[in-house]
Amino acid sequence: MSYKQEAVKRQDEIVADLKAMVAIKSIIDETTISENAPYGANIRQALDLFLDMAKRDGFTYKDVDGHAGYIEYGEGEELVGVLGHLDVVPLGDGWTKDPLGCEEEDGYIFGRGTSDDKGPSIAAYHALKILKDNNVKLNRRVRLIVGCDEETGFRCVEYYKQVEEVPNFGFTPDANFPVIYGEKGIIQLYLNSEYPTIITELNAGEVGNVVIGRASAKLSVDLDEAAFTAYLSKHNLVGSVTDNTYYLEGKSAHAMAPQEGLNAGVYLLSFIAEAHNDEFAKHLADFTHSYNGHGLNIDFEGKYMGPLTLNLGVLRINENTQSALIDIRYPDGYVAEDVFKAIRAKVEPLNFSLDIDTDKDIVFLDPEGDMIKILEEVYRTETGDYESPLITMGGGTYAKAFENHVAYGMEFPLIKHPESVGDVHQADEAVSKAALIDGTAIYAKAIEKLCNM
Ligand SMILES: [Zn+2]
Repeated sequence: MSYKQEAVKRQDEIVADLKAMVAIKSIIDETTISENAPYGANIRQALDLFLDMAKRDGFTYKDVDGHAGYIEYGEGEELVGVLGHLDVVPLGDGWTKDPLGCEEEDGYIFGRGTSDDKGPSIAAYHALKILKDNNVKLNRRVRLIVGCDEETGFRCVEYYKQVEEVPNFGFTPDANFPVIYGEKGIIQLYLNSEYPTIITELNAGEVGNVVIGRASAKLSVDLDEAAFTAYLSKHNLVGSVTDNTYYLEGKSAHAMAPQEGLNAGVYLLSFIAEAHNDEFAKHLADFTHSYNGHGLNIDFEGKYMGPLTLNLGVLRINENTQSALIDIRYPDGYVAEDVFKAIRAKVEPLNFSLDIDTDKDIVFLDPEGDMIKILEEVYRTETGDYESPLITMGGGTYAKAFENHVAYGMEFPLIKHPESVGDVHQADEAVSKAALIDGTAIYAKAIEKLCNM
């Protein structure tokens, strides 16, 4: 059977299912949490739609108490996992299309979740459907598990693991092809202090995993405004001063690639440190200015994954107490304790304390192992791409939560998107119809091979 032909035949059905799913604004909502809706009513609605699709298509399915859902196909002792998610990040600003409308343009479908991760989850769903409709015999069972809390803490999969069968191995369609065989370990921690500082108020950033795009600080003393203007132009930044409030614009980026952004928080602290020799600002700027962690003596380099990355994501500062949330992604060859030890040694003598918020392990599977070989081969034969290397990355997918799982698609490395297509988590997120079809075919073939290897 040609999986590609099967997927092409089903294009309208796949697109219709995606549209119905994207129309549901499945963002976490603490105000509508109830029994069986641990992340609020909207995400519950998306899960219900998934379960309705399963019912419609005659799958074995289950609602895992509103934390996740799954469909299953095949026979045998062992279980292969395919892990997607139905929750999305907030819509945000700057859309030129309806973020819930799935408008089509130049072969792309626009909307929040089309690429992360409703599109890939729907593709994986139809991959299982192709196998089932064609009665393809599988010697292992495959289970497509869709979580409901991927974007805000993975509580869904932690719950799933406590009450349900854990897959022996598998993949998560929530990143890039060919195969991501390694993911950096992720740490988020607060650096807290109680310095006297001239900053009476500085609140910037919302989450650890995004580079601070803009920041403003109200100061208790007058600084040289001309010096600020000079500082801005020296660093190619935009900013202004009114009533002793210094405003600075940098550039937002994902914390796994902080070098692609300009951290407004770090630049503002550096200016205050330079202009007034403020001790607190000086120390914190010193700790965070290097996105490879040099300022905290954690500029580790991995053999496969390259350099550690560091991002200052949130600042909550006043003249008495200060807190800074930092996101650190460390490479192979290191453990979280190496990072903690080095940071403590650096910051504690300077009267900063450490409060660890997140600590997610590294993912690393042998790129020569059977599973990776199969995933790689299926991708290459289906696309003809024999050049793109297998990759490691700084992101954190569900592969972190399950042993022997790796991220696999659905971003195609050789496809360059037009300018009108926004990135994941940004405005004008989109997926191409071609990617939906090719992804469906690749997932169907990969599942068959993994179940019968
Ligand atoms: Zn995702």
